[in-house]
Amino acid sequence: MTIKINNLCIIGTGLIGGSFALALKKAGVCGHITAAGRSEETLQKAKQLGLIDSYHMNIADAVKDADVVFVSVPLGAMQSVFEQINQGLLAAGNDKAIITDAGSSKLRVQQLAEAIFTDSSRFVAGHPIAGTENSGPQAAFAELYKNRRVILTPVADTDQDAIKTVTELWQATGAEVETMDAEHHDKVLAATSHLPHLIAFGLVHCLENMEDIENVFRFAAGGFRDVTRIASSDPVMWRDICLNNREQILDMLARYRTEMDMLYNALAESDGEKLKEVFEHAKQTRDKFTH
Ligand code: NAP
Repeated sequence: MTIKINNLCIIGTGLIGGSFALALKKAGVCGHITAAGRSEETLQKAKQLGLIDSYHMNIADAVKDADVVFVSVPLGAMQSVFEQINQGLLAAGNDKAIITDAGSSKLRVQQLAEAIFTDSSRFVAGHPIAGTENSGPQAAFAELYKNRRVILTPVADTDQDAIKTVTELWQATGAEVETMDAEHHDKVLAATSHLPHLIAFGLVHCLENMEDIENVFRFAAGGFRDVTRIASSDPVMWRDICLNNREQILDMLARYRTEMDMLYNALAESDGEKLKEVFEHAKQTRDKFTH
């Protein structure tokens, strides 16, 4: 049986929040979807596009009657948004609402939730492993989470019913839900998502200063496009992800730097054997995990 909730409240109606709302609307899961965020322009756009049914300019008002509050704002805005949600729920006497988020790093978000929410057992931290390089309500689409993974990182105190509700909501969007601890999540994501984004940003930034930059982009073939697509992602979101998962990303960058130094030395010494050996290993590893 599909889950049903009366009132869903989305804080931040961009790509992630908008797609969550749209997918749940399509699945017929929510009675009413309201929202709050930062600018009225974005909220109006989200309503025009049919992502939400109504909006409030004040987060405290928006969460008043919520059964579930879904927070999908940049990580740097989480603290202030959590404080406003907590104030709104307390003022309305709403002690039943379940709160969840979609932030791309989890340990810091969990620590914020524990410090801010009067009852943090009803907070379930989450992260959809889905997205595109586009932002804003106009980028949202209902199929974003279909067959994609969502990682929940509950702690020992997290309410089991809250975990069940959040799991079923994600399943209703078409996603597969897994749980893991927040620290492990941050380590895995630093390797598989955060480091690749830094490489893409760094690669484009490095080429930017070449004399013949126009020709570099004119003759850019598939490989360059594939590797740098994610350098078109939102700079504020990525600044926040880096700062919130700093230690794990620094660790991955240091490993990557060692690897690049090794390749640099192999090439400087015209060590074709070494280069071939590294490329073969990398190809075998990628083929094993992607085929
Ligand atoms: P987005 O499209 O830029 O949307 C962000 C939304 O948050 C906008 O509606 C924005 O409103 C609102 N917002 C920004 N600052 C705010 C503040 N101080 N107070 C209240 N609302 C604020 O971003 P997104 O891609 O949906 O990302 C949202 C979250 O999901 C981030 O935490 C990100 O780490 C996570 N995430 C992203 C992806 C991805 O691929 N994009 C994947 C997984 C998880 P305005 O338009 O008015 O500024």
